[in-house]
Amino acid sequence: MRGQRSIRRRRNARRDGGLIATVNVCETFVSIQGESTYAGLSCYFIRLAGCNLRCRYCDTTYAYVPGLDVPVPDLVAEFRASKAAIVEITGGEPLLQPGFRELAAALRDQGGKPVLVETNGSMDISAIPAGVIAIMDVKCPGSGVSEAMDPANIGRLRPQDEVKFVLSDRQDYEWAGDFVRRHNLPTRCHAVLFSPVFGKLPAKEVGQWILDDGLPVRVQVQLHKALGMK
Ligand code: SF4
Repeated sequence: MRGQRSIRRRRNARRDGGLIATVNVCETFVSIQGESTYAGLSCYFIRLAGCNLRCRYCDTTYAYVPGLDVPVPDLVAEFRASKAAIVEITGGEPLLQPGFRELAAALRDQGGKPVLVETNGSMDISAIPAGVIAIMDVKCPGSGVSEAMDPANIGRLRPQDEVKFVLSDRQDYEWAGDFVRRHNLPTRCHAVLFSPVFGKLPAKEVGQWILDDGLPVRVQVQLHKALGMK
């Protein structure tokens, strides 16, 4: 929670009291991006608090509870001060927060570095500003929440967006493969990612299944976990 402490210091120093958008933040930190085609790059993460789902494999349950209200300009300043190559808004579920659009647009407008938003697929992704990259989950049956997806989001995908399936088992793989084919998903977005649950389903098995079936998707390990990083 190193990042959270630094935000608190900044916030206490503010006295403007104006109409500045805030978001409720669980934590901020810098690490290696591990779950998209941007994997491997240094990334400033802003984890917003609160989630409307409860996936069986969730590894960020600590983000369910309220965090700290932080003004958007403070987060932009912390990103600028970091040496990170990209910035990612994650959660929880970022699109739940009224201040999300202001945050995403402000990060984009500070110039030059990709802005990623991880979303669980249950909220309308047209709320994501132009030029910001959605990494959208499609929840498989193994998540326990696959009914929560907003199916209209498939039609809202933009060329720069990426779609991620987190796979718990072979059943999830087959379900995801059917979904990819039915929606011709690789033509709708930049990349389709098949990400096995770390420590549960070996990535090598998923890779072999993709080879056997000739699926036009990418197998993806959670690189930050493979590196032993946050
Ligand atoms: S959507 Fe993400 S944060 Fe929410 S329960 Fe699922 S894995 Fe956890």
